[in-house]
Amino acid sequence: MNEEIKEFLKQGICPNCKNKLAHKEGCIECEFCGWSMCEEA
Ligand SMILES: [Zn+2]
Repeated sequence: MNEEIKEFLKQGICPNCKNKLAHKEGCIECEFCGWSMCEEA
């Protein structure tokens, strides 16, 4: 994973639009721009 994106995720911020992220069943979603990422176990 991109290190820059990791830093955003650590802070709970969308790497795309910088809004707050929502966590859903192992995935991270942005309700503002639709960005999402699921964690690979
Ligand atoms: Zn976003």
